[in-house]
Amino acid sequence: LLAIGGAAGGIAALIPTAIQAVGSWQRIESLLSYPDDQPVVQNAMPMNEPLSRVALRDVSFSYVGDRLNLDDVTLETPVPRRIALVGPSGSGKSTVINLLSRNYDATSGSVVLNDTDIREIDDRSLFSLIAVVNQDTTLFDGSIRYNIRIGRMDATDAEIEQAARAAEIHSFIVTLPNGYETDVGEGGKLLSGGQRQRIVIARALLRDPKILLLDEATSALDAEAEAAINDTLARVTANRMLFSVTHRLSSCPDMDLICAFRDGKLVETGTHDELLARNGLYAGMWEKQSDISIANAGQDVAISVE
Ligand code: ATP
Repeated sequence: LLAIGGAAGGIAALIPTAIQAVGSWQRIESLLSYPDDQPVVQNAMPMNEPLSRVALRDVSFSYVGDRLNLDDVTLETPVPRRIALVGPSGSGKSTVINLLSRNYDATSGSVVLNDTDIREIDDRSLFSLIAVVNQDTTLFDGSIRYNIRIGRMDATDAEIEQAARAAEIHSFIVTLPNGYETDVGEGGKLLSGGQRQRIVIARALLRDPKILLLDEATSALDAEAEAAINDTLARVTANRMLFSVTHRLSSCPDMDLICAFRDGKLVETGTHDELLARNGLYAGMWEKQSDISIANAGQDVAISVE
């Protein structure tokens, strides 16, 4: 939550520099490009009551100029729900994540948590409510413990272990000669992509976020590692609000709701079965991916026969 309320100073005062980098380089870039004239809400309030609803109400958004990157999107959901955001490249999925995490504010309309406009909720509340995991799994040079602790600097070692267990990386960590003190190497290069992603997930879980935003979180992984991490994510998101941007649709049948975007518009919402029956955008994407996986499976068979 780097660019909350345009008040970069506010968030900077809350958390050490390392935590500010937790989001991603993309978020740092978005902070640097954050418009100076973004309205700063002066009297932002803490959010004390439990989160029960998330809504996008008539949300439109333009990054630059007049082009609408989100066009009048409305979506209201009780908490907890697991929601997949799908659609062609450039259709606006990541932009929804950007608005939910307050990387940017809606150009018109509003993002609402319970009954409160997200712009009226103070930085500290938002920071503890929301965590983002994306495909940028670059770690910081330092120990595994440090890389998880970045999620919440005052976490105890026991809490760090608990987060690592939930992310299903604890049992791997304890097999390392130096355990949690193991240095991950520059950018985490001593670990596999799946292990890095699990550390990033543990880091996010350390805040016990009520809203978890996944933006292509598994897209850099091979199919096997992706399936394993999707199993873990299904477990850790059971009682949370999840918005998951994904190109690969394999996790969609298990989601409570699928939102399909095209050209910035939310064109379909429903469960996997409902959207297949509708035979529209999602059904077409699903069919295309099934064709690809059948073709790939065929190739595997051919290779194994040889
Ligand atoms: P992908 O699947 O390729 O990640 P997406 O559906 O997540 O795509 P978005 O990243 O939300 O799409 O982008 C929606 C539109 O906004 C695209 O046309 C994109 O080019 C544009 N866009 C995204 N980020 C910016 C930015 N920082 N500045 C200007 N335009 C942007």
